[in-house]
Amino acid sequence: MTPQAPLAADPRNFPDSVDVAVMGAGPAGTSAAALLNARGWSTAIVEAETFPRFVIGESLLARCMDLLDEAGLLDAVKARNYLVKRGALFVRGDQRADIDFAEQFTPGWTWTWQVPRADFDLTLANEASRQGVPIYYQHRVTAMTPGAEPTLTVESPRKNYTIRARHVIDATGYGRVLPRLLGLDRPSTLMERKSVFAHVRGDRRPKGTLENRIWIVMHPRGAWVWLIPFSNGITSVGFVAEPPFFEHFTGTDEEVFRAAMAEDPNTSERLVDMEFVFPPRTLRGYSAAVSAMHGPGYTLVGNATEFLDPVFSSGVTLALESANRAAILIDRSLRGERVDWDTDYTAYMMRGVETFRAFVLGWYTGEFPDILFSPSQNDLLRRQVTSVLAGYVWDETNPFVRQPARRMQQVARIVRRLDA
Ligand SMILES: Cc1cc2nc3c(=O)[nH]c(=O)nc-3n(C[C@H](O)[C@H](O)[C@H](O)COP(=O)(O)OP(=O)(O)OC[C@H]3O[C@@H](n4cnc5c(N)ncnc54)[C@H](O)[C@@H]3O)c2cc1C
Repeated sequence: MTPQAPLAADPRNFPDSVDVAVMGAGPAGTSAAALLNARGWSTAIVEAETFPRFVIGESLLARCMDLLDEAGLLDAVKARNYLVKRGALFVRGDQRADIDFAEQFTPGWTWTWQVPRADFDLTLANEASRQGVPIYYQHRVTAMTPGAEPTLTVESPRKNYTIRARHVIDATGYGRVLPRLLGLDRPSTLMERKSVFAHVRGDRRPKGTLENRIWIVMHPRGAWVWLIPFSNGITSVGFVAEPPFFEHFTGTDEEVFRAAMAEDPNTSERLVDMEFVFPPRTLRGYSAAVSAMHGPGYTLVGNATEFLDPVFSSGVTLALESANRAAILIDRSLRGERVDWDTDYTAYMMRGVETFRAFVLGWYTGEFPDILFSPSQNDLLRRQVTSVLAGYVWDETNPFVRQPARRMQQVARIVRRLDA
């Protein structure tokens, strides 16, 4: 993977006003800006960090491919030669459940990528820049005056300034700028969990079909582990659990990581020779929600809205989907059309979120693993589950999308009875 430099806009030439000002140059921000730029609107992205920057969230879902394509960003990503991901392997003790994106209920992409995010996000940002979106790095939004023409206050190394816009997009991810500034932050309905993760070398990857899968391994003491292989030989490994799981161990994050690994034969078998590329990092309490996803002159996209849980790798997919949807609606609104934001944005996005929420809840109650590993499941059921895990969570002909929580409980009851 050849290193890339950011195509940064000249910081002396920041605009006083644009049609759409975007905060944050993660996947949500760059894809929304690219879509609006392609529709002829003047856009600018203000990004607090310099790129490349590390962010977690490295396994994509097949639905991302449609969305990257629609945003005109797919070819740029293809050129980076990331590891092709064709599915996921779930592991519980000696049980294996292999999810193959080629075997779906909903027609769609059968593959996607595992992406080191520093490089992936920079690729998207550079492609958006090439298409005409100026990106101002190390420019941090500190305030917004809402209204018909919202104004952002921006701090930069040279000076502080304001940008007026006809519409503002908050794509600040974990920064959650507008949820904090406007009091929209709400606690998640999900329990607080913590993750300890690192990049490692020396992963003994299995040869064959399972080599490029994300592995999601159930740890014997209630945690779960992700193993995400990259094309450069590095593997991302993360443990996720409620905080008491980690308190059981003592020592540094590295010692906790090693001790947690040693307790799980499936993970330690692959990682027996591992070396850390960087010392383990921790994140805690990342699940979050908002009371509103839009307001007069602004829209929240990606992780600035609701973030559920890492287990099904839904974050980037929902970030791209919300960016795509928001861009279409902002375009219509700027052209003077009336937009029903509650129905066409919030309700639409929440349909997908609720499907993943049912799966996440089912994962932690044990209903979903019992479905996944059941010898009684049939081909149709497996395809319906696979389409949700591929990110096709807006296909209402899939019963897991139409009535996610009910379907999860029903199917779990049936397979548990059959398997008893
Ligand atoms: C432990 C864990 C594992 C995960 N694993 C996966 C996975 O395997 N697959 C997956 O799809 N998702 C995963 N996710 C979720 C994923 O990280 C996010 O969903 C994704 O990064 C959201 O993209 P985004 O564009 O909304 O925000 P981000 O990628 O977070 O980008 C937001 C940008 O906004 C910038 N910003 C912040 N504040 C300001 C400010 N004041 N002014 C200007 N700019 C600002 C930030 O610097 C950043 O660059 C995981 C999450 C966690 C917690």
